[in-house]
Amino acid sequence: MASRCWRWWGRSAWPWTPPLSVGSIPSFRHQFSTQETTPQICVVGSGPAGFYTAQHLLKQHPQAHVDIYEKQPVPFGLVRFGVAPDHPEVKNVINTFTQTAHCGRCAFWGNVEVGRDVTVPELREAYHAVVLSYGAEDHRALEIPGEELPGVCSARAFVGWYNGLPENQELKPDLSCDTAVILGQGNVALDVARILLTPPEHLEKTDITKAALDVLRQSRVKTVWLVGRRGPLQVAFTIKELREMIQLPGTRPILDPVDFLGLQDRLKGTAWRQSTMLTEVPRPRKRLTELLLRTAMEKPGPEEAARRASASRAWGLRFFRSPQQVLPSPDGQGAAGVRLAVTRLEGVGEATRAVPTGAMEDLPCGLVLSSIGYKSRPIDPSVPFDSKLGVIPNVEGRVTDVPGLYCSGWVKRGPTGVIATTMTDSFLTGQMLLQDLKAGLLPSGPRPGSAAIQALLSSRGVQPVSFSDWEKLDAEEVARGQGTGRPREKLVDPQEMLHLLGH
Ligand code: FAD
Ligand code: NAP
Repeated sequence: MASRCWRWWGRSAWPWTPPLSVGSIPSFRHQFSTQETTPQICVVGSGPAGFYTAQHLLKQHPQAHVDIYEKQPVPFGLVRFGVAPDHPEVKNVINTFTQTAHCGRCAFWGNVEVGRDVTVPELREAYHAVVLSYGAEDHRALEIPGEELPGVCSARAFVGWYNGLPENQELKPDLSCDTAVILGQGNVALDVARILLTPPEHLEKTDITKAALDVLRQSRVKTVWLVGRRGPLQVAFTIKELREMIQLPGTRPILDPVDFLGLQDRLKGTAWRQSTMLTEVPRPRKRLTELLLRTAMEKPGPEEAARRASASRAWGLRFFRSPQQVLPSPDGQGAAGVRLAVTRLEGVGEATRAVPTGAMEDLPCGLVLSSIGYKSRPIDPSVPFDSKLGVIPNVEGRVTDVPGLYCSGWVKRGPTGVIATTMTDSFLTGQMLLQDLKAGLLPSGPRPGSAAIQALLSSRGVQPVSFSDWEKLDAEEVARGQGTGRPREKLVDPQEMLHLLGH
């Protein structure tokens, strides 16, 4: 079975899957004796971190058995519930995760919420090691007056709504206004702006939920502002996503050339070096800023000028503006705008901070989406949690002061980084765990693994969803999408999913 599990991992799948070791990570595969007790390892969370950690452990240890516990009835975390529906190629990683799940030494247990249905101490008792890979499920709050008004929501909830996350299906955002404001200038902010402005007929062939598509078809939103507290040199989004936005059909960009004055010289070197004491703007940042500069300062060619002139929708970047308050509509039942403090920059390089100048500005709008980042939750009183940083304190994935407990992904390093970053970090956690196993630092003797946990879950009336159950749901979703030319129609109600499985 062992060789069958990892033979296919040698073949390339996106993001690249290393043949035997990642970069400088040494291969452990042949260092474990076949006489050893089967290491029973449990992973909490089935997003990229959970699946990549499992992949590493299974591939590098010929006997290890890995159980993945997931609170949703369906796997894949933000690959299913975060990645934008118009980016289907990103979701190809699901093929790699599915291969991992098909390994005979791996089992998926969906519909099991750790911390509620089973505790971390119970898992630690049943397994030789536990890896926490449960991501960052909350949004960071703005903590400004008016944040609780109708018409204000987190980008996290909005993304969950259009991607079919069960808990966000009641969101029903009101898109009857002319202008929406997104607070934050990261890739999530760009995803949300793009979904708001994309002509609905372009979303029809994606796996966006039907309910979201229906609301977007009725949308009256014509202008979307993305507000950043710092300047063009500090935007958090990346060039590919910006380029896609600039080329979005039916829309035109609004950038104020004043925000970009002097930036060209800075990129060339002289003024930047003098003002920041840095030698060079990093290359990816330079290319991104050049694209912003060209869009803001250069006259478009005739074709692009005609395209922009005929656009019925627009998006713009507002820089040097920090949110202070969401202004209520006259009846207090909605948002009428955002009060912004005008800022200037202090400090150098990446440490550049926005400080208020004292000036204020009101930006009228009917919808406010805060996109200032995600946040992890503590999972269990027995697990240390740094609530300031929103991570489990750890050293290279080993949870501080708790032997046998590990973490990977966003809960390990905070809510930033793409799937490839999460892969590297999860492989490293896997490597640390295997080092400890080899050094005899994990409990010796057999552990019952899932047998003990299934007995506990059964006594608590919890019915887990297996990976083959998920494949039935997957087939049902694909079947429901057929006929309308959609890749799938996502099931969004956990009760319906369980009913379909006969649970
Ligand atoms: P997650 O993907 O969040 O997985 C965590 C899993 O743990 C979830 O399945 C969750 O249900 C489960 N869980 C939580 N609590 C419990 C519990 N108590 N018990 C059991 N299970 C639990 N990266 C790209 O490369 N390309 C993109 O296009 C892209 N788009 C993105 C779009 C959005 C909106 C966001 C937010 C991120 C995007 N990313 C993208 C980044 C990428 O999604 C992350 O790097 C990655 O998902 C982090 O993986 P993770 O496993 O740590 O967290
Ligand atoms: P992010 O990249 O960290 O961006 C957060 C944004 O919010 C920044 O502009 C930040 O500005 C701003 N912000 C933070 N606190 C603020 C405050 N108090 N007031 C005003 N603004 C504030 O987070 P994200 O957009 O949620 O993305 C998370 C990760 O997922 C990122 O690594 C991202 O690249 C990835 N992702 C990738 C894709 C893709 O590849 N297509 C898509 C989506 C997400 P400051 O810089 O000033 O703090």
